[in-house]
Amino acid sequence: MKRIALSFVVALVTVACATMSQTPQGLVSRAIQAQGGVDALAGIKTIAMKGTMKQWEPEQSMTAGGEMRFANDATFDALYDIGTGASRTDWVKKFAYPAPRTFTFTEIVTAESGYVAGIDSNGRTKQSLDSNPPAHTMSGLRLAATHREMRRASTLLLLEMQRNPDRVTAAPDVVVGGVSYPTVNYRVGDQTLTVAFDPATGLPARVRTLDYDNIWGDVTYDLLLSDWQTVDGVKVAMTRKFELNGRTVSEMKLTEVKLNAPIAADRFAIPAAFKDGAPKPASGAVPYQWVIRRQFIGTYLDSDVPSYDAKATTGLRLVELAPGVQHAVGGSHNSLIVEMKDYLIVFDSPVSDAQSKWVINAAKAKFPGKPVKYLVLTHHHMDHAGGLRAYAVEGATIVVGKGTADHYRRVLASPFTRNPDLSSRDLSRTEIVEVVDKRTFSDGIREVQAIVMVNNPHADGLMMGYVVDARLGFATDVWSPGGALPDKLNPALSSVVNTVKAAGISPTKFAGGHGSTADYAPLAALEGK
Ligand SMILES: [Zn+2]
Repeated sequence: MKRIALSFVVALVTVACATMSQTPQGLVSRAIQAQGGVDALAGIKTIAMKGTMKQWEPEQSMTAGGEMRFANDATFDALYDIGTGASRTDWVKKFAYPAPRTFTFTEIVTAESGYVAGIDSNGRTKQSLDSNPPAHTMSGLRLAATHREMRRASTLLLLEMQRNPDRVTAAPDVVVGGVSYPTVNYRVGDQTLTVAFDPATGLPARVRTLDYDNIWGDVTYDLLLSDWQTVDGVKVAMTRKFELNGRTVSEMKLTEVKLNAPIAADRFAIPAAFKDGAPKPASGAVPYQWVIRRQFIGTYLDSDVPSYDAKATTGLRLVELAPGVQHAVGGSHNSLIVEMKDYLIVFDSPVSDAQSKWVINAAKAKFPGKPVKYLVLTHHHMDHAGGLRAYAVEGATIVVGKGTADHYRRVLASPFTRNPDLSSRDLSRTEIVEVVDKRTFSDGIREVQAIVMVNNPHADGLMMGYVVDARLGFATDVWSPGGALPDKLNPALSSVVNTVKAAGISPTKFAGGHGSTADYAPLAALEGK
């Protein structure tokens, strides 16, 4: 009897230990042990890292839903002061898309503000343009996104979690490739980092957030940690991959890590002119994927309003190009609104549903009683199509280029519960019309055309718009009217000229999805030069 009782107690203790290691706090403790222990982690005062990075952008692909566009290849040199939470990263980013160029710049981030020295984007803010040498303050959106991503990748994340046990809670196992990873949630502000642990080593394997993508709606964004190496008694993940819905979009390799090397305080200094009045980290509806991935391709407009430079303009506005033809401009991306007898046609739904709502409201105010019946999307890229849901909610038919209808069907069937601008609903029955060659909208008064472009280098199925009576074309990403023309045609501009000829249209002006408007004749005159 006594013997049975004793073995029963032993069994209970064994079960208790096994359960203990699987409690959220137990998983965190086990990971810290695997990383080198509390003392080793707590002893880290500075981190210096060098490495390389490659990034890809899935929603700038040549083919809708196709292979991701290679975005950039970078090297970096990063410093972290653990005590103050400040960091400095010196970047050399060689971009391949949308055009080859190299940006060399420095990011300094503290708990209160962020600063960029140098040029890091084609989408420069007024502050960057006005500063000599170029520099600007980070928007609150970028600062919040940077803070989140630095915390996610931090070697000290587990230590922070252990010090905040009330914010660490149980979560369902993450299952990848048939392997079940014990998982916890860590709540920081309004964000949750879901940390999945390698069942064999106990080390963190994957850190997930649930994000909103303006094309695919609700998405997972994961950091995968691997290639752990021991540096001064601490295990550091030397390879860091980011997966968006399971596809690798960013791959970072550390080539050198130094712990506790002395770093002069002025390395983290933000000049007073950029520090005073700098935006605090944003909270709430931060469009993380927009902020992060526009930086992948070096086109991020670092503003607290994603659509326009909030420090340079009061907002979007309509510009009349012809009777019943309005260009929605004032931001980085434009739409064109065309009035028909009983309805409206809009070309492109850039950036976000917030921008779309502005355009829809402005269109309704300008043309009372006329619904938006058609949204014509020139192409599938996230920056020109990402606000399509607001039009679907209005009941608009989505008009898309050759070979892309299935893509948009999948997009509109995707749930979007995390869309900051629009409550989720079923848009899977939205009518989608695919244009094979040319589609003409006519009401007996006005004819408007959506024309699939020939031989364009930008996106399969790319379309241009044409308002026949106004002799006005609308082009996106192959020509940004209003800027200087090159000395001779490039492939993108050639496709505009060739499409005009093939379609037998005779535009006098073009409006752009970027830029403003310009006469067509100077472009046409480049042919043969
Ligand atoms: Zn594009």
